Amino acid sequence: MTRKPLALHEDRLLPSDPTQRAIARRLYEAVRGLPIVSPHGHTDPRWFADDEPFADPASLLVVPDHYVYRMLYSQGVPLEALGVARVDGGKVEQDGRRIWRAFAERWDLFRGTPTRTWFDHSLHEVFGVRERIGPESADRIYDQIASCLAKPEFRPRALFERFNIEVLATTESPLDQLPHHRKLQASGWKGRVITTYRPDPVVDPEFEGFAANVARLGELTGEDTATWSGYLSALAKRRAFFASMGATATDHGHPSATTCDLSRAYCESLLSRALKGALSPAEAEQFRGQLLTEMARMSIEDGLVMQIHPGAYRNHNPQVFRTFGRDKGADIPMQTEFVHALKPLLDRFGNDPRLSIILFTLDETTYSRELAPLAGYYPCLKLGPAWWFFDSPEGMKLHRERIVETAGFYNTVGFNDDTRAFPSIPARHDVARRMDCAFLARLVAEHRLEEDEALEVAVDLAYRLAKRAYRL
Ligand SMILES: [Zn+2]
Repeated sequence: MTRKPLALHEDRLLPSDPTQRAIARRLYEAVRGLPIVSPHGHTDPRWFADDEPFADPASLLVVPDHYVYRMLYSQGVPLEALGVARVDGGKVEQDGRRIWRAFAERWDLFRGTPTRTWFDHSLHEVFGVRERIGPESADRIYDQIASCLAKPEFRPRALFERFNIEVLATTESPLDQLPHHRKLQASGWKGRVITTYRPDPVVDPEFEGFAANVARLGELTGEDTATWSGYLSALAKRRAFFASMGATATDHGHPSATTCDLSRAYCESLLSRALKGALSPAEAEQFRGQLLTEMARMSIEDGLVMQIHPGAYRNHNPQVFRTFGRDKGADIPMQTEFVHALKPLLDRFGNDPRLSIILFTLDETTYSRELAPLAGYYPCLKLGPAWWFFDSPEGMKLHRERIVETAGFYNTVGFNDDTRAFPSIPARHDVARRMDCAFLARLVAEHRLEEDEALEVAVDLAYRLAKRAYRL
């Protein structure tokens, strides 16, 4: 059987119109080699702290990637066959090669998806693979990646340096003592890996183990977290700890963008009932909403930039949630409202020049109707890049088309790869850079922007805006 070659076209994702393509090429040339700033993501800090070789191709590229297994699951592949660990410790596939085959045999499912683009780029650029994935090539490609992973130049720190990452942020719970970040800092390695404060487990009454989490928060801080003031002080102390470890941002993954500004007496009563598991869904929503406002107040005091990632119906499949736990691809976007939802927070803090909030959405209908007008007005609001299901060429195009005319480029924050899939980081940033150059090239070709301005914007979008927005 003839092998099908894997090649990356120089002009991939650039406009097919020759005038625009020529401009886009020039813009892209100026940004392709810029360092990567990755201010939001979910890589494991242990990788960089321990710098052990990655175990095998499947556990690096398939098992942690929910984009991969949600697609395979949708076509009937059980998560057990992909090596996803069960909560009860029950039997799942352990053999990396068999997991890889289950993936490679169904590679055609990924045609037209960004996963396909990211994988092709990672295999080609990181591991030197020159043939397309498929049932017939699966074993050869597995062996090639496995032999790479055994070499020192494929260890986590070496890859970090080769990817030209200037700074990489991970995401941790306030209950995390950040042992890996401590180890990293003590190691003398010059790579900059910072944490991000993500308080969902202690501010969402519907999070698994909420009451125990809040009790643990009290132990860690010496505060009485059963009282409203003690609870808030404990959250502030953990923010200070995270900031001392290098964090520059917080992150909030709430089901909605609801914010509240409630009376202190009512907050006391919400907290005490939350700890007993006695809140109605509407009250849980109020509790989370109040906490966003409290976090904004704390941000003004400690300077951490606030990210709000609303609108995912997480763990939508109860059977998968029971068997495998959270974040297993069963996340579905919901309609999300911002104009009314953010008002209590903005009424209180929206004019404070020290506050910086980065908004994300999974509801693209809000781009031009709500988000661009909000960010194009309030100094404290900026818009995050096209996120999650929209971290894709079409998603990025829509994001620019719907936002720039009202909010400009400078109320956005550059790109976030938001990934657990470490080898795909260069691929993801490359897609964003190409799509931004494509968008700018059209403005130049239509004489809406001069090329020298477009060039400046391209560099800002690829590099400078992320550093500025995340105070890096
Ligand atoms: Zn994230």
